[in-house]
Amino acid sequence: MIVAIDGPAASGKGTVARAIAAHFGLPHLDTGLLYRAVGASLKRRGIALDDVAAAELAARNLTLDDLADQSLRDRHVGEASSVVAAIPEVRAALIALQRDFANGRKGAVLDGRDIGTFICPDADVKLFITASSEERARRRTLELEARDEATPYADVLADIRKRDERDSNRSSAPLKMADDAILIDTTALNVEVSIAAGLAAVTKAMGRKAAN
Ligand code: C5P
Repeated sequence: MIVAIDGPAASGKGTVARAIAAHFGLPHLDTGLLYRAVGASLKRRGIALDDVAAAELAARNLTLDDLADQSLRDRHVGEASSVVAAIPEVRAALIALQRDFANGRKGAVLDGRDIGTFICPDADVKLFITASSEERARRRTLELEARDEATPYADVLADIRKRDERDSNRSSAPLKMADDAILIDTTALNVEVSIAAGLAAVTKAMGRKAAN
């Protein structure tokens, strides 16, 4: 079973994806970490984020082991990741790794921006998880505080809006809800209710598929 989960930053998609993966015993790939790892690799080596050849090479050399680094979740890495994610060569270099992961023996849960639309267009279930930009900024502000990266709410909101804008308007695989995705808006939902909504949507979709 392949579950594709997309949505903007801090929408709760990672939390729901992890819960679905645990519930159904599936491996999970947070595909945002791939783009974060490419951005972080360039930054660490002082290479400009628009150096296409260097970014493509970093993407080609990525392995799943590189994704465990907790610093990939730092605020400045989020910004860098959305810059390199707009480079078509970087996206192309990461396709095989994501599809191989999805096509493992048991299937998988993948979350990102283009999973249902591009990486796994034939996924068994597609969810699009979103929330208002203000609510997402509120959550990300709390998250950054807990990571000792306290940042004013207004700055976090500006970051989120800039990233949404870049992710939605790039030419290559922009952030977009797939026509056959189930929409979950978590703006007014707490973590438990968001997880329950995600699990219910997957269970229902799988039941419908089995009946057909
Ligand atoms: O999900 P996360 O915020 O970690 O993603 C970081 C960045 O990676 C996003 O802002 C987006 O630009 C990019 N991304 C993408 N496609 C994906 C996952 C993430 O372009 N499937």
